[in-house]
Amino acid sequence: MLPEPPHGKLLIFTAPSGAGKTTIVRHLLKKYGELAFSVSATTRPPRPGEEDGVDYHFLSRKEFARRVEAGAFVEYEEVYPGRFYGTLHSEVHRIWEAGRTVVFDIEVKGATTIKRQYPEDSLAVFVSPPTREVLFQRLRDRSTEDEESLRVRIERAGVELGYADSFDRILVNDDLPTALAEAELVTREFLAD
Ligand code: ADP
Ligand code: 5GP
Repeated sequence: MLPEPPHGKLLIFTAPSGAGKTTIVRHLLKKYGELAFSVSATTRPPRPGEEDGVDYHFLSRKEFARRVEAGAFVEYEEVYPGRFYGTLHSEVHRIWEAGRTVVFDIEVKGATTIKRQYPEDSLAVFVSPPTREVLFQRLRDRSTEDEESLRVRIERAGVELGYADSFDRILVNDDLPTALAEAELVTREFLAD
């Protein structure tokens, strides 16, 4: 039998697009050296300032499909029509081998899949906007999407908000400093556990 690969913890942040996961996760990664980011693969094009291998592994549709066939993904989803996103086994193992805790920034279905695979070793935190209207306004103000992409994200975000109760914790991101302090507390407790 092959030896079990090293197995560590998983800290999952999930939310509708625009709720503030990326802002919170970046803050935690700067603050806690024990954490490392699971760099997802995606078929969407990079936004200005995004780096391949840092923000995402940017893949063609063909290369993404090849990796699906090869069983390279822990989970993957077609998050928006024609836009695939997935968590690579290689990322998770790289981070565990380094003795660190994996942090995810991932939509609700993928978060549920990972939580189901590692129920004992994971904590799934749902980042909630104070209201729907604030969420939609943040997405608009971020100015990263064209009108069509914004429309699709707003539509999906409305559905995703209904999943908040499926996760271990809900973190309301209204006042940012308060939300960051709460995220720090949740992280410290999880790392110490
Ligand atoms: P997500 O990763 O969930 O899509 P982001 O972290 O990109 O969300 O946040 C969406 C936008 O809202 C960004 O422009 C970010 O700077 C802004 N934002 C995040 N948290 C807050 C907050 N508490 N108050 C106001 N704006 C926020
Ligand atoms: P964005 O295009 O804004 O970077 O991400 C769109 C959505 O895809 C976000 O909700 C983000 O959290 C999610 N996402 C990013 N990586 C993954 C992944 O590996 N798997 C899944 N299922 N969703 C992901």
